[in-house]
Amino acid sequence: MSIKLEHLNYVYSQGTAYEKHALKDICLEIPHGEFVGLIGHTGSGKSTLIQHLNGLVKATSGALYYEGRNIYEEGYPMRELRNQVGLVFQYPEHQLFEVDVMTDVCFGPKNQGLSPEECKARALEALKLVGLKEKYYKASPFELSGGQKRRVAIAGVLAMRPKVLVLDEPTAGLDPKGRDDILDQIAYLHKQSDLTVILVSHSMEDIARYADRIIVMNKGQVQYNGKPVEVFAHYKELEKIGLAAPQVTYIMHDLKEQGLDVKTNITTIEEA
Ligand code: ADP
Repeated sequence: MSIKLEHLNYVYSQGTAYEKHALKDICLEIPHGEFVGLIGHTGSGKSTLIQHLNGLVKATSGALYYEGRNIYEEGYPMRELRNQVGLVFQYPEHQLFEVDVMTDVCFGPKNQGLSPEECKARALEALKLVGLKEKYYKASPFELSGGQKRRVAIAGVLAMRPKVLVLDEPTAGLDPKGRDDILDQIAYLHKQSDLTVILVSHSMEDIARYADRIIVMNKGQVQYNGKPVEVFAHYKELEKIGLAAPQVTYIMHDLKEQGLDVKTNITTIEEA
């Protein structure tokens, strides 16, 4: 097993008038190699949660285990954790700043202390993985389209060869074609390797299409955690917490067409 959260809580600005209990008693397990969709309304705690996964934010209480070891114990190699759990922030292109694409993607490996040759090899591998055409490797990141910039940013994280790739709303602000391309590429990456993918989205449709498992956050808590069909069975409750019902209904329709007996599953869940 790869990541385990035990009774994890996070409070912003504790002890002040702005105190906000953003994560409440989160218990989760994310096995290695899974494609997990993390969904929830704005403010439900998704970004806060994923920033715990590579130690960027430290829990107020509770534990987080990576490969069986509590990352909060003294002497834990945080740097190693940051290399293994790659985080792609929202609008990651805002962090592209080097003269050309290649140099930008080399930035992470260079920071890891790798030789220039190894950095280049890693960057080439990562750029291929994200499907960016070779003619752009020497271009300034600023000359690229929105979707291409995002590929470069994802390549920058992949060049560090993480075992877990966490993406916060990777399709935000892209047109429908750009969105599909990026998501297909991520799904392809996941299939090609044993990379664990945690995809944060507020789009049920995106999540449903790719994830093995869906975690639904609501007001800082995990409300549902299961296979897409199990989670969608709660579509009435999902609608109440602002997760678009028509899309869910449409997905259920889709699942039925794929031969999945959605109704049986719903009955099973309701009976359980
Ligand atoms: P999401 O990613 O699902 O939109 P966030 O994790 O960003 O949710 O936010 C969870 C809660 O924590 C929200 O109520 C938000 O207002 C609050 N929050 C987020 N960042 C901060 C911060 N830096 N200081 C105080 N409160 C914050």
